[in-house]
Amino acid sequence: MSDVKTYVAGHKSPDTDSICSAISFANLLTQMGTPATPVCAGEANKETTYVLNHFGFEHPQIVKNWEEFAPEGGNLYLTDHNESKQIIDGYKSMNMCGVVDHHRIGDFETDGPVFMRLEPVGCSNTIITKLYMENNQEIPKDIAGLMLSAIISDTVLFRSPTCTPVDEQIARELAQIAGIDVEEHAKAMFRAGSDLSGKTPNEIFYMDYKKFNADTIDFGVGQITSMDQGELDDIKASILEYMDSVKEEQGLDYVFFMLTNILDETTHLLICGPEAEGVIERGFGVTPEDKVAILPGVMSRKKQMIPNLLNAFQQ
Ligand code: MN
Ligand code: MN
Repeated sequence: MSDVKTYVAGHKSPDTDSICSAISFANLLTQMGTPATPVCAGEANKETTYVLNHFGFEHPQIVKNWEEFAPEGGNLYLTDHNESKQIIDGYKSMNMCGVVDHHRIGDFETDGPVFMRLEPVGCSNTIITKLYMENNQEIPKDIAGLMLSAIISDTVLFRSPTCTPVDEQIARELAQIAGIDVEEHAKAMFRAGSDLSGKTPNEIFYMDYKKFNADTIDFGVGQITSMDQGELDDIKASILEYMDSVKEEQGLDYVFFMLTNILDETTHLLICGPEAEGVIERGFGVTPEDKVAILPGVMSRKKQMIPNLLNAFQQ
C-alpha cells in the first residue's frame, strides 16, 4: 500500500457546495479503494455549519498553504473550482490528480494527465452523485444529505438560472435516500445562513435604499431580500417603527420598505406616509392592513415597485 496521502479540496472562501463536494468526493474515492481526506480553504459559513451539524459531519481540516500543511506532498483532487486564484496556496507542491467542477475553465494547468469531470450543471454535487451511480457505489444516507444540501444551496432551491432539470431530479433522488423533506430542509438551511440577525433596524434599512421623486412628492424605497419568511416577519415591526424617523429626518412624503421573499416570490410592503394606503390601492389594487401590503409576484423595485408607485402618485 502506498503511503502517499490523497486529499480533496474545494475553493477559497468556501461555500456549501465547495465543502460538501470535498467530503462527498473524498468518500467516493475512499469507497472505491483510495482513502482520501477532505479539507477546506477556510472556516465554513453559517449555512454550511448548519448542514455539517445536521448530518453529523465534522468540519474538515482547514488548509491555508499546502507546502506548510503537507511538506511531504500528496495527491490532490479539486472540487467546485479550477482557476488558480481559487486554489489553496502552494498547490504546485502537490501531485494534481483531478477536478470535478461546474464552472468555466480558467487557467488550469498540470504537469501530468489528470481526471477531469466537468459539466454545465447547477452544482458540483450533482456531478458527484452521477459518479456514485456510474460506479455502482452506494450513497450513504448522510452523504446524500450533504449532496442534497449543496444542490439546494447552489441552485437557491432550483430557482437559480444556473439550475438544470438534472440538478432537481438528482436532488429529489438524494432526498429520498436521506429521508429529507427538500423544502423544509431548504428553509432551515437558508434561515441558518441568514445574516440579518444581530443587525439594527438602521443597518437593515440602509442596506439597499434609494430616494425617488414624482413632481412634488419625495419618497424613499428600501428593500431586503430573503429566502426565509420567518426572518422577514421578525424585522417587520422594528423597520416599520424606524421608517417614521427616516421620513422625519429626510423630509420625505412617503417611505416604503420591501420585504421580498425570493422563494415565495412575494413582497410584503411596509408603508409610511399620509394616506399611503390609498397610494398602494391605486398602484397595486391591494388594500394594506396595519401598514403592510402583501404583493404576490412583486420582486423588483426598479421594474415593478417604482413604475406602479409613480403611476399611483400621478392619478
Ligand atoms: Mn462554490
Ligand atoms: Mn458549486
